[in-house]
Amino acid sequence: MTVVSLSDAKWSCSSCGDCCKGFSFGPVEEHVVSGLMAAKIEDIWHPSRQGWVEKSVDGEWFFKQVSGHCVFLREDNLCAIHDLLGESAKPWFCREYPFHLVREPRGVAVRVREDCGGYYKSFSSGHTVQDSAQALLSLPRIVPVQSILDRTIIIGPGLGVSAENWVEVEPLLLQRVKDAPDIHRAVNSIRSAIDQMTGRDSKISTPFRQIYLEILTGVKARIESQSNLPNRFRTAREDMLLFLSRASREPEGRYTPEAHDFWSVVLRGRILGKRFAAFGGLPSGIGLSLFEFHLLSGKSSPMTLEGLGPSLSQWRRALMAPPFWEVLKSYQNQFSALYFCA
Ligand code: SF4
Repeated sequence: MTVVSLSDAKWSCSSCGDCCKGFSFGPVEEHVVSGLMAAKIEDIWHPSRQGWVEKSVDGEWFFKQVSGHCVFLREDNLCAIHDLLGESAKPWFCREYPFHLVREPRGVAVRVREDCGGYYKSFSSGHTVQDSAQALLSLPRIVPVQSILDRTIIIGPGLGVSAENWVEVEPLLLQRVKDAPDIHRAVNSIRSAIDQMTGRDSKISTPFRQIYLEILTGVKARIESQSNLPNRFRTAREDMLLFLSRASREPEGRYTPEAHDFWSVVLRGRILGKRFAAFGGLPSGIGLSLFEFHLLSGKSSPMTLEGLGPSLSQWRRALMAPPFWEVLKSYQNQFSALYFCA
């Protein structure tokens, strides 16, 4: 199987433990749960004595959270299951993390997820994604690798292309992002390239700030109203509200060169991983990235790599919780508008 990845994408584990905090930890495979029961995990990992697994309303297993982290996370940020019973005793999602795989016409595209807390430390110095990728393909999974093979890729209003056509234009768009001095101009450059190909002029004149504030205030109000969520989403909800409350109402988008380089790799990874396909299409998916770029940016001084990395990771871990992802998805039209006015 051919692995497609960014040539300059790198990653190494920094043992920060963030992958085991803030998420909901499941669904866990049945055989992993029964393996831990057979091993009497609560006898060899005492923090799990008060319970370590629970069933969702859909009947899926989730590991319990303790103070916002997985019950199996040790104080030294290592995994108790891994240490006591070996890597193969862990759920598949723990073993695959922080990589994201998507099946596409050239093979399997692999990117690093930006919710990894240590990605910003190793994105330019770690092991290449290609080196890590082959082992990922043979991991046992209960959720099949996401596929875009039969999907229509939405690239504009009423405009979709096949996956085969998409991968022909993707390298050009990735190069445009790589060459751009900031993400705002990268998005502008992507839109211009697609407009040239399709003979359209998709730019709209609505002020960027107006749409940005509409999303910011609307999403915050929706999440504030979600007060009866299951306990496993409590930390994520607090984090979402923290970011939305302290976001500047004047989107600045100022970053140091190192922080810009990180954003560039993140955005190109999202394009390569077709993340926008799960968010209504290219305009809304790229618009979400643009929103985040401003939400997390510095105002009075440029945002540094050391400031951006942990913030982006924390924000994305919270955002990936299904209740909040659904709220953001309900603003797809506004995110698309950000893309069209960039
Ligand atoms: S099982 Fe281990 S690797 Fe997986 S979330 Fe829990 S502590 Fe982290």
